[in-house]
Amino acid sequence: MYSGAIPQHHVETIESDFQSLGLSPPTLQALRDLGFYHPTPIQAGVIPLALAGRDVVGLAQTGSGKTAAFVLPLIERIQPGSGVRGLILSPTREIALQTWSFLEILGAHRGMKAAILIGGVAYGPQFDRLKAKPEFVVATPGRLLDHVERRTVRLDGVSELVIDEADHMLDLGFMPQIQRVLDLLPKVRHTTMFSATMPDAVERLTRQFLSDPERVDIRPVGGAASGIEHRLYLVAESAKRDCLLALLREQPGLTLVFTRRKIDAEWLSKALEKHGIEVERIHGDLSQAKRVQALQGLRSGRHRVLVATDVAARGIDVRGIDHVVQFDLPDSVEDYVHRSGRTARGAAKGVVSTIATWLDKAFLKDLEDTLGEPLRRCEIAGVEPYHPLKEVRAERGSLHRGKAPLARRRRF
Ligand code: AMP
Repeated sequence: MYSGAIPQHHVETIESDFQSLGLSPPTLQALRDLGFYHPTPIQAGVIPLALAGRDVVGLAQTGSGKTAAFVLPLIERIQPGSGVRGLILSPTREIALQTWSFLEILGAHRGMKAAILIGGVAYGPQFDRLKAKPEFVVATPGRLLDHVERRTVRLDGVSELVIDEADHMLDLGFMPQIQRVLDLLPKVRHTTMFSATMPDAVERLTRQFLSDPERVDIRPVGGAASGIEHRLYLVAESAKRDCLLALLREQPGLTLVFTRRKIDAEWLSKALEKHGIEVERIHGDLSQAKRVQALQGLRSGRHRVLVATDVAARGIDVRGIDHVVQFDLPDSVEDYVHRSGRTARGAAKGVVSTIATWLDKAFLKDLEDTLGEPLRRCEIAGVEPYHPLKEVRAERGSLHRGKAPLARRRRF
C-alpha cells in the first residue's frame, strides 16, 4: 500500500550492544539484518525500562533513533495474532509512515503486521489492512478517531501505547483528540511518550496518563542538535528573497527552506523556479501523494531544494540535508530546534541559516538565550545587510528623534 524502507542515517551509537538491553535472539538478528549493531543513547535508555513494563518519558529529537527505541519493546512485548495490542500516535503522516516501516520490517520475523491510519489518503486500503487483523496500529489522531466512529478499529485491547512527539502534537492542536483517544483505551496499559521539549501541557499529559514514569533525557545541552552551525543574516524585508537566492547559490547541497504559511511556500517555490533552481514544495494543502513525491524527488536528487511549512516538515527524514534556511522565523523556539534538526542528523554536520529582519529581534533574543550562544552574524555578497539607521529613517521620517536607532544598533 505504501512504499517505505527504513531511512539510513549515520547516528551516534554507544559502545554496548543490543544484546545487553534484553532483546530476544530473533529481534537481535532482525537488527543485524538492518545493519544496526550498537544502540543509540535513547535506545539504551528506553529499551530496558520499556521491556520491564515501566512507563517512560523519552526526551529526544527526531534523528536520535527514537523510533527503534519504542518499536523494539513493542515487538518483544506483544504476542502475534492477538488483535490490535499496540497503538502508536504520530503527529504527521510522514512520521507515521516511518514508524510503520520500522514495525513492518522488525515485526516480520514474528509474523506481526501493522496498519497505518493517516489522513489525506483513501479509506479502502486502510479497511483492508484492518481486516487482516494487525497487531499494531500507527495513526494520526484525527483519522484514528474517524475509524473508531466507523467502528472499523477497536481500541479496547490496546496494552501498549506510544505517544510520539507529544510537543509537536500540542503545537498542531491535537491535544483534544489525544485526550479522546486515551479515554477509549484500557486503563491498565503500558505507555511510552516521546517529546523533544517539555512544555506545561505535555507535563500535564504525563501526570494524567502515565503511571510513575521513568524519564530518559538525552537532549543536547541548549536543545538544538549538535553539529549545527547557526548563521544569522539580518536584512531588510524587501531583501529576503535575494538573500535566499544568494545563499542557495553559495551552498550547492540539499537544502530545506522554511516558510510560515502555505501560501508563502507556494509563491517562494515558484519564484525560485523562475531563477532556474530545481525546487519542490511541501505543505498541508497538498495531497499525500504530492507530499511523498516531493520527498522522493529530494531523496533521489531530482530537485535539491524543498520549500516547506512546519507542519509538513516535521517528519521529513531525508538523508544528507546540508542546509536549512529559515526564510521566515517560526512561532516558537521549539520549532526552530525542530526545523534545525532536519540537518546534521545523527553525527553529520549542517548549516542553519536564518534570514531575519529587525522585527524578529525579540524572537532572536529568546532563541539565543535558549541556545546559550549568539547566532553568528553573517553577510552575503550582493545583499545589503540591515542598517538600523535606514530602517528608522523610513519609519520616523527623521534620524534625530528618539533613542531607538542607537538601541537597535547595539542589539544587532
Ligand atoms: P529516528 O530518530 O528514529 O528518526 O532515527 C534516525 C535514523 O537513525 C534513522 O535513519 C534510523 O534508520 C537510524 N538508526 C536508528 N537507530 C540506529 C542504530 N542503532 N544504528 C544505526 N542506525 C540507526
